[in-house]
Amino acid sequence: MTGVALKPNELEAYWMPFSANRAFKARPRLFVAADGVHYRTDTGRQVLDATSGLYCVNAGHGRRRIVDAIKEAAERLDFAPPFQYAQPQVFELANRLALLAPGDLNHVMLATSGSEAVETAMKVALAYHRAKGEGQRTKFIGRERAYHGVGFGGIAVGGIPANRKAFGAMLPGTDHLPSTYDRAHQAFSVGEPAWGAHLADELNRLIALHDASNIAAVIVEPTAGSTGCLPPPQGYLERLVEIAGHHGILVIFDEVITGFGRLGHAFAAERYGLVPDLITFAKGVTNGSVPMSGVLLRDQIYRTVCDGEDAPAGAPPRHLPELFHGYTYSGHPLATAAALATLDVYRDEALFERTREREAAFAERMMSLQGLPNVADIRPIGLMCGIDLHCIENRPGQRGYRAIETSFHELDLYVRVALDTLILAPPLIATDDELDAMTERVAETIRRVQ
Ligand code: PLP
Repeated sequence: MTGVALKPNELEAYWMPFSANRAFKARPRLFVAADGVHYRTDTGRQVLDATSGLYCVNAGHGRRRIVDAIKEAAERLDFAPPFQYAQPQVFELANRLALLAPGDLNHVMLATSGSEAVETAMKVALAYHRAKGEGQRTKFIGRERAYHGVGFGGIAVGGIPANRKAFGAMLPGTDHLPSTYDRAHQAFSVGEPAWGAHLADELNRLIALHDASNIAAVIVEPTAGSTGCLPPPQGYLERLVEIAGHHGILVIFDEVITGFGRLGHAFAAERYGLVPDLITFAKGVTNGSVPMSGVLLRDQIYRTVCDGEDAPAGAPPRHLPELFHGYTYSGHPLATAAALATLDVYRDEALFERTREREAAFAERMMSLQGLPNVADIRPIGLMCGIDLHCIENRPGQRGYRAIETSFHELDLYVRVALDTLILAPPLIATDDELDAMTERVAETIRRVQ
């Protein structure tokens, strides 16, 4: 399929997610095909993909092995009921994910979106404490500027004001750590900034306020992604995990973006030598090809809820589900096949190791943008980078929207923009020349929106 003729009135029916609908429909941006690090538009232009779709196409677009696996699954088994029945590949996938995860995160639950993974992790945390006889542990600690998807739990622990303000009480009983970002102390840091580890101590303040015995879990993105790529200060995550562990508070790393190579490891937890209690993942698990997400969790959590270990009430009856939770599409055959093929590609092409080796060169390219008009900060880590542009006075997001239009219509570049921040996350397969081209086009975008 190449040309797609759409008239403006044919765009009206679809209410686009997280989009400026009216502006888009006045001047649409349409992708009809993709290959490698390029999209093709409805008018046949090749557009460089500087954000791996939406941080998910880590192995590049149109991977034959993944496409073939999906086709084979679609022809063989279109759907299998995931409740009380299963298809064999989900067990293979769970084992392979557990092998990739740190420590004893040996159990996996599956869902479809990152938002569902977050809700699942939060519910598992509640169920775990309840099974242990600590059902009063119901509060969750999130962080300012965090993004944990759009479920009521996720927006409640999330910290992006615009995502919260229209949605009432959300999930009651949450509180927030301060954001780890402080431009005055951290501007133009490469990787983890030196300043800010002490911000983890704020967890102690929240524990004093709410009492540890009431807190179920603390949830953080190892590097906050959607808010503009905020790497954790050196030592911050280590301190947070230590404090939470000391008080029996579960730690959830939301690795929906940082999982599957973005920071040079299967999971960012490994980069810091940490073992959180739960890890949420999505996006890169299927290279973005079929929706899939999930939660990895530690042995102790599974054994407590399912086997009744350390549970005052003992194990639940054998004929009943141990946890009343799940989705019609948990472990869908097409997604499972896509995930298995994706993991093969990551392994056979050593894409995580390759990312580690290229991190410094990528950072160098990003830092070369310092000094361009209105650039307020640049934050590279792994193969991801946030570039803040000064906002036009009293018009947050306007320069950013211009950057979206300019890069797409004039420079054949797709880059994710959140308000006035450009967020690059190139496919891990991008060549040096392709990274150079992305850097040049980002530079030109910045110049044109000054
Ligand atoms: N958690 C994090 C850290 C994310 O970055 C995202 C999406 O970008 C989500 C959760 C939500 O994922 P989804 O959009 O698949 O629901």
